[in-house]
Amino acid sequence: MTDPLELRDEMEKALGLAAGGSAEYVAGLREDPVLSHDAEDVAGSVGGDLPADGDGALAAVAELLEQARPGATRSSGPRFFHFVMGGTTPASLAADWLTSALDQVAYSWASSPLASSLERLSVEWLRQLFELPEEFDGVLVTGATMANFTGLAAARGWWAERQGVDVDEAGMGGLPAPVIPTSGYIHPSAMQALGMLGLGRSNVRALTRDGVGRLDVAALESALAELDGTPAIVIANAGEVNAGDFDPIPRMAELAERYDAWLHVDGAFGLFARLAPQTRALTDGVERAHSVASDGHKWLNVPYDCGFAFVREPARLAKTFTVGAPYLPSPDDPRPNPGFLAPENSRRARAFAVWATLRAYGRSGYRAMVERHLGLAQRLASRVDEASELERLAEVPLNIVCFRVHPPGAAEQELDELNRRLGEALLRDGRVFAGTTTYDGKVAFRPAIVNWQTTERDVDTLIGVLLELVKAETG
Ligand SMILES: *Cc1c(COP(=O)(O)O)cnc(C)c1O
Repeated sequence: MTDPLELRDEMEKALGLAAGGSAEYVAGLREDPVLSHDAEDVAGSVGGDLPADGDGALAAVAELLEQARPGATRSSGPRFFHFVMGGTTPASLAADWLTSALDQVAYSWASSPLASSLERLSVEWLRQLFELPEEFDGVLVTGATMANFTGLAAARGWWAERQGVDVDEAGMGGLPAPVIPTSGYIHPSAMQALGMLGLGRSNVRALTRDGVGRLDVAALESALAELDGTPAIVIANAGEVNAGDFDPIPRMAELAERYDAWLHVDGAFGLFARLAPQTRALTDGVERAHSVASDGHKWLNVPYDCGFAFVREPARLAKTFTVGAPYLPSPDDPRPNPGFLAPENSRRARAFAVWATLRAYGRSGYRAMVERHLGLAQRLASRVDEASELERLAEVPLNIVCFRVHPPGAAEQELDELNRRLGEALLRDGRVFAGTTTYDGKVAFRPAIVNWQTTERDVDTLIGVLLELVKAETG
């Protein structure tokens, strides 16, 4: 029998084991391969039946650490350029441990005054960091997918109300199909959110003017004009994942205002362009949006999972997400009750990590990090431009460099296959991580720089390893 109560004395040792193993892991992030060659074998070898009797916390934690040494993907390290994944600042990681240790339920003042007030403050600090108007309020969620869901839930409430329907009560029955114009830059998670909300993925109209997916502004204007007063939900994309490009948000805001549409902005990582003077203009118009979604676990560099949504009329969130029960605080409770604005009820105190990292580094620390990343992206672009085997495919407005391998004299029809093979080889190699995408019909690399620890050396290693693999592949 291994009843946890009988083994309660293990607690301190188990925490010590976790702390020691964590410190060792995190210290190794600078030099260790992103993925060790044994990682997949380790992952494949986990198994066995549910133990009839356990053998206690120390054995379990030790085994997890043993598996993590070869098995964990060092995606929080400085040479992980794949997708757009951030690391964990020391302040946010330590605070995140405390999130579990203190185990607060960030639902209401009644469940945790501390978690509730720190979430209020964190959201307010984020609003100030991104210089959104004061009427905006928001909530922490698990990521930009749920931030899109939250913002678009407010949009849905507004859209239905314009047509005389309380969608939270009545559902979508009887309402027409919504019109949801956007550009080709819309992120799949926004599509997913629209599906979950019953707004329908197929009601999205990606109005593009080229193969990259750039917005056709004239088509947006005609689409809205044609509606003749019927409300629409416009989605603007602040930072697209292949090249870091932005929709023309001021034009979209202007059209949304003229035609009475809701403007939702997905700025999962692109919202951080607002922190640096040289990229701030890319986000102009965000302050005119009705809802804004962004991520904490990307460029804010807090641990998974963390995102946040802002809404200009926060009462819309309360309308959709506040539940009532005799044992719960009243919906009119004036104290901070973050769960009233959120799609989840019981929820971890994500604010601890957000608050701690903003407290630790402040506006100037985040601005310095973003500016460093912008500089590193330009350096990476120069390395690409200098290499005769590489071809850059897009401008670099932000922190992503989109390019492909294109050896001199190679035939166009061979390039997709070559780049796909090299993409797989690069991930298998494991020293650096960057995957491929399709950009304007071409298979391409799209390394993104979002990790607080990434430096020039890491960026140069990426190019060095890739060129080594190109040489091995093309002879
Ligand atoms: C990453 C991303 C999302 C989805 O965010 P999750 O954190 O994975 O939920 C949405 N939009 C954009 C533009 C993104 O880059």
